[in-house]
Amino acid sequence: MSDSSAPELSFEFFPPRTEAGRDRLPEVYTKLAELDPRFFSVTFGAGGTTRDFTFDAVKNISRDTGICTAPHLSCVASDKADLRRLLTQYREHGIKRIVTLRGDMPSGMLGLGEFRYARDLVDFIREETGDHFDLTVAAYPECHPQARNFEQDIDHFADKVRAGADMAITQYFFNPDAYHHFVDRVRARGVDVPILPGIMPITNYTKLARFSEMCGAEIPRWVRRQLESYGDDSDSIQAFGHEVVTRLCQQLLDQGAPGLHFYTLNQAEACTRIVSDLSLEKAGR
Ligand code: FAD
Repeated sequence: MSDSSAPELSFEFFPPRTEAGRDRLPEVYTKLAELDPRFFSVTFGAGGTTRDFTFDAVKNISRDTGICTAPHLSCVASDKADLRRLLTQYREHGIKRIVTLRGDMPSGMLGLGEFRYARDLVDFIREETGDHFDLTVAAYPECHPQARNFEQDIDHFADKVRAGADMAITQYFFNPDAYHHFVDRVRARGVDVPILPGIMPITNYTKLARFSEMCGAEIPRWVRRQLESYGDDSDSIQAFGHEVVTRLCQQLLDQGAPGLHFYTLNQAEACTRIVSDLSLEKAGR
């Protein structure tokens, strides 16, 4: 049995679109299941572009591991009738948790659909299904890239939680102060749901830099300069990345973060190494 005071772990996957990716995923989640996570989650392409892949992955992971597995659900470019059908399917398959998002419009898709913000989707799910689902929403310690300013972004976050969210997961970041500052500002607004820090292991600098640019996560200068200096030497990138992210996780936990949510990119090894170095394997939790 888990120690209830121990930090909770969770792991996020994307739904593989290729046969090879689908074949590889079970090995990844089986390995991560050994760490006794509280839940797994599977991302969802805005506008429903991965809808069936997401649902299939959720069903397979929960069937094979017995661990609660949450589909992400984004509302941008979706209509109510479609989402209603999807929620019914999720209920019929015993799904109890949804990561509830606005999503970003895929390029080439026009129109906002019937929902504008994640908060609208939280409202809709609560209206349609009452308390059936635990709802998790997204949080941005370094401010959402489209927000007018930080305080307004926190106001919107607080409204979204008050509409009926049970928990939040943050965008990834590498500066622990950003997380603690964000949590303090949120608590000052009377919002007390758990806020799980999202953790991005560093394994490939080029991809990390591109993705960080898109989602507004800051790579501190000292980390960027060091990673850049390694060029194509992926062993050094991974060794340094491991050290930076493990220290970040330790600082977050030492200062009261309730757990760690890993963006796995469908790879187990970087996550299992971090968890092991933090002594958070099953036996210790
Ligand atoms: P919202 O909470 O709606 O916020 C979006 C912006 O609107 C913010 O700038 C906010 O300040 C602003 N805003 C909110 N309410 C109002 C209002 N009333 N008036 C004016 N402005 C307002 N994307 C996917 O497509 N699929 C995924 O599976 C996925 N998973 C994710 C998981 C996590 C943990 C995180 C952190 C992000 C994920 N994303 C995913 C990315 C996310 O969809 C994008 O960051 C998106 O741009 C915002 O989504 P949101 O749910 O945070 O939106």
